[in-house]
Amino acid sequence: MAQEDVFKKVVSHCKEYGFVFPSSDIYDGLGAVYDYGQNGVELKNNIKQYWWQSMVLMHENIVGIDSAIFMHPTIWKASGHVDAFNDPLIDNLDSKKRYRADVLIEDQLAKYDEKIEKEVAKARKRFGESFDEEKYRETSPRVQEELQKREALHERFSKAMNDSNLEELRQIIIDEEIVCPISGTRNWTEVRQFNLMFKTEMGSTAEGAFTVYLRPETAQGIFVNYLNVQKTGRMKIPFGIAQIGKAFRNEIVARQFIFRMREFEQMEMQFFIKPGTELDWFDTWRKTRMAWHQNLGFGAENYRFHDHDKLAHYANAATDIEFRMPFGFKEVEGIHSRTNFDLSQHEAYSGKSIKYFDPELKESYVPYVIETSIGVDRMFLSVMCHSYCEEQLENGETRVVLKLPAALAPVKLAVMPLVKKDGLPEEARKIIDDLKFHFNCQYDEKDSIGKRYRRQDAVGTPYCATVDYDTLNDGCVTLRYRDTMQQERVKISDLRGIIEDNVTITSLLKKLK
Ligand code: ATP
Repeated sequence: MAQEDVFKKVVSHCKEYGFVFPSSDIYDGLGAVYDYGQNGVELKNNIKQYWWQSMVLMHENIVGIDSAIFMHPTIWKASGHVDAFNDPLIDNLDSKKRYRADVLIEDQLAKYDEKIEKEVAKARKRFGESFDEEKYRETSPRVQEELQKREALHERFSKAMNDSNLEELRQIIIDEEIVCPISGTRNWTEVRQFNLMFKTEMGSTAEGAFTVYLRPETAQGIFVNYLNVQKTGRMKIPFGIAQIGKAFRNEIVARQFIFRMREFEQMEMQFFIKPGTELDWFDTWRKTRMAWHQNLGFGAENYRFHDHDKLAHYANAATDIEFRMPFGFKEVEGIHSRTNFDLSQHEAYSGKSIKYFDPELKESYVPYVIETSIGVDRMFLSVMCHSYCEEQLENGETRVVLKLPAALAPVKLAVMPLVKKDGLPEEARKIIDDLKFHFNCQYDEKDSIGKRYRRQDAVGTPYCATVDYDTLNDGCVTLRYRDTMQQERVKISDLRGIIEDNVTITSLLKKLK
């Protein structure tokens, strides 16, 4: 299946099976805002649990908080968001469509990459077994030509971004002959900066209302609480604070479904360390976070690091973990070494000392910070895209199955009476009443067994148990496995033992190295 088709199918599957709905659907939706449905919320909660437990349960020195969305407006001045949380935007005068100038150029860079990969793929086919890929990349004039063009563009782009040179960004778009995907023309406006923060007013006008922002990241809530937590929790450096919560960004170009939303959720952990140890810790968290992703079993080849060339002025190392989405490798998580920038800024703007007293060194300092920041919704999208599968069956039918990691699946076990009479429904409900304390079960009696299996496959339920007439005599059910479709007769009393160990978040955590 072509990758664009996979993506389209995932989007419609999400709606059809209660995972994700456009927000305000009956009013024709609201741009880049989405609601999670009955299955989506379970999957999303499981992703959050996997993250939270891997941070807070698995590390003695990491604790969680839940800070407010509204914060003192000066926080966003101190963090740099009021002045510099901008995207460069450009409009096409013919289509009247607005784009992020940097994204247009990044897409162009990806086109060079694609050309190079196509050349290599062609050569691989032509030369067969004897193909020496490394040598070909170094010696093929065509590959070299594209590579040089790519490198030149990349260098020019990085410099323009580092210098915030908007005229140069526009010139690059002109020189590269980038066209608007809608109108196909090169009729571009100037590039302008656009602040991504949503504003609202707090307090009544009589009291004097003032502007507050909807937080564009959860991290600042951690920074301004770091000393509260350190003191009340008697935390010693190195230690971390984790938080899951909503963030809001007025994204200019909201596209690709839940990949880029205006209201989304982040899972962030700030790790406070002694200055000078940051590069070692950066390396540790880089590896730890990659292991967390790969533990889901989606294949190491579907992940890569993308180290940043353009570092924020305060950062001294940064990398993204990218996942192979149907529309290419895309950032799912960022890992940043942020020095003491944020804490020092809050010290300066609040006028309060937020130094840490190190009992071993017997000195005070502003800690350095390593941040890990992952979007719940992007993670959700990567899980859905990887799990969506269409299988050709022997009887010629196609089955759609979500091969979700069992620990993330919304429903773990569906219990189905073969018929809706003769005591079978009661027997099925008895099984659920017993097992529902241990994992999520669903009762399903409508339609033929075949249809019910398909329905459960489509939402990723790893196990189905069918109650039939024999069950009433032998205390056994037919257990059917989602991925293999194999069935076996098992005792009702064995169900919990067979299923529980494979479907809990604990089972995933135990596999983490
Ligand atoms: P991008 O370059 O894609 O805009 P970013 O580098 O600005 O992302 P960060 O500020 O590092 O993103 O945010 C950390 C994480 O939050 C990202 O890796 C991503 O998973 C998630 N995230 C950021 N913006 C959005 C958004 N608009 N919608 C959904 N998730 C987002």
